Amino acid sequence: MSSTRVFMTDKDLSERSVIRNIFPDATLLLCLFHTLRTFRREVTCEKMGITSGQQQLCLELLQRMAYAKSSDAYQSVYDTLVETASASVVQYFNRNWHGIRAEWVRCHALASGNLMNCTNNRLESINSKLKSVIDRYSTIEKFIDQLYIVLQSQHDDNSCLKSSNGIKKATPVVTAYRQLLTPYAFRHVDRHLVSSKHGSTDTSTHETTTTTCSCGFRQAMGLPCCHIFLMRRQQNLDLYDIELCSERWQRQYYQWHMAVTHGTTAGTQDKRAICQHRICNRISRAGHDKFRRSRNICVFRCNHSQTSA
Ligand SMILES: [Zn+2]
Repeated sequence: MSSTRVFMTDKDLSERSVIRNIFPDATLLLCLFHTLRTFRREVTCEKMGITSGQQQLCLELLQRMAYAKSSDAYQSVYDTLVETASASVVQYFNRNWHGIRAEWVRCHALASGNLMNCTNNRLESINSKLKSVIDRYSTIEKFIDQLYIVLQSQHDDNSCLKSSNGIKKATPVVTAYRQLLTPYAFRHVDRHLVSSKHGSTDTSTHETTTTTCSCGFRQAMGLPCCHIFLMRRQQNLDLYDIELCSERWQRQYYQWHMAVTHGTTAGTQDKRAICQHRICNRISRAGHDKFRRSRNICVFRCNHSQTSA
């Protein structure tokens, strides 16, 4: 449990209290989408006693604070809010948001190591896929059967993406990172390598060494940033260093993780996992959507034939 670094939730107080108790060392963040939605829901003309023009101005300031790239930038917009907004808005904001700004302002969220996820949208996306395939009141057996189908479908999609990677010619450093990292992580690193090469890197606002950097990307992702690459170029150091890359982005770790998820680790297969793989292999690679449609047609035909009989 001590290795869990970050949680992201909406503002559900019970949920957050439980997480704080069980994971005292983890950072608790608020989903940006939910934060902005709460601003729109609470800062209204009726609730705050303000005009629509004042409401628009306040919402704009609140959004700018949420996306602030530094503490100074946040403070500057906050000062403007205090000067220009009505007392009701300032009071609401101070009571509910200012004291916990480390949990929802972008610059603080990146520093927590949030892997650049400022919202729960990815999780919500997976949840909606599950809901589209799995009936709401499924038995636990049926739920697990269909859960594995969705996971296999996602795994197949990822495999397709992986196989399409690695076509263009590249330098030894690029090739080494491509072989080391997942396609998603590699795309980030490749972009930062290019940026450091073309001199578009601004190093003045960050504290950088040849292995560390205070910038948001390095803090959030645990991958080498353009600032580190630039410093290594200037000191003629090898741009490739496995120690710069968090293990969670490395292909070997990813493959091990997928093997565990799909029950294919040598010596640990159980009958359930093997059974699920056989079911999955019969499912088309078109994914969960095709499965859901096929199932609906089967249910319809089944009901129809029973009615006819
Ligand atoms: Zn950096």
